[in-house]
Amino acid sequence: MPTSPDLAAHPYATAPGSGAACRDYRVGTVSMTAVSDGYIVMDPGFVGSPTHPTGAFDVLKDEHNRMVMPIGCFLIRGERTVLVDLGYGPHDERNEGRMVGGGLLVQLRRLGLRPADIDVIALSHLHPDHVGWIGDPHAEATFPNAQVFVGAADWAYFVESSEALLPLEPHVRETFTCLADRGRVTLMDGDHAITPSLMRLDAPGHTPGHSIYAVHDGADRAILFGDAMYCADQLTHTDWGALTDVDRSLARRTRERFVRDLETSGGTALGCHFPGLVAGRALLSPEG
Ligand SMILES: [Zn+2]
Repeated sequence: MPTSPDLAAHPYATAPGSGAACRDYRVGTVSMTAVSDGYIVMDPGFVGSPTHPTGAFDVLKDEHNRMVMPIGCFLIRGERTVLVDLGYGPHDERNEGRMVGGGLLVQLRRLGLRPADIDVIALSHLHPDHVGWIGDPHAEATFPNAQVFVGAADWAYFVESSEALLPLEPHVRETFTCLADRGRVTLMDGDHAITPSLMRLDAPGHTPGHSIYAVHDGADRAILFGDAMYCADQLTHTDWGALTDVDRSLARRTRERFVRDLETSGGTALGCHFPGLVAGRALLSPEG
């Protein structure tokens, strides 16, 4: 079992954007808690467009001229206990402290949950800041009872090939392979109902098999954007992409498609790195 470092000791753990605190949401009768595993200090040019490469930074920078974003995971408690994404995990000072994880299990404990209580893990994609807690350095799964749901094209790109731009760490790949051997990985193509209140929606671009998740109950819905969107400002600036988008133009078309969907069908938008894990809403443009 991996251990959690003392995240509070890190310099940006309490920065307003880092999402150090939990944030509770309600979707109909379903309760959802956004929790941050840590934080990333983003480069100024990380989210923007070719003509405005510092688009997000110009809006989100703090008084120290830094853009600090959380590493969000989402706990959904309905018929099953679900975690969407697994943070960066218990890494010590790497990247000169610019990306630090390790808070997820502590946050879950505060919410009264042990790793064995998680039934379902639904991953938006397989970049390192979303799969960090999948297993320990010996490839032992952190969540012993969970079924893991992954976009099939991400599995092919990150697990089966060695061509990924941001490859999996060896112990992460080994954990995934062990889980698959035990029948505990479900690969998803297209839209896929995981629980009665959680739907996977195909959202390629940031990575080949990137998943957006709709949490829904009756007329209420929250769209979890994963890394298809880094901040709510991209609801109006869909041309802003991320440096780590594998296919930048496809990522933009995916964003546009989901913003149109939010405009017509309503709902709350939330991404793993939205500052403070505060949700946004799409507003109909004047042209309708
Ligand atoms: Zn990410």
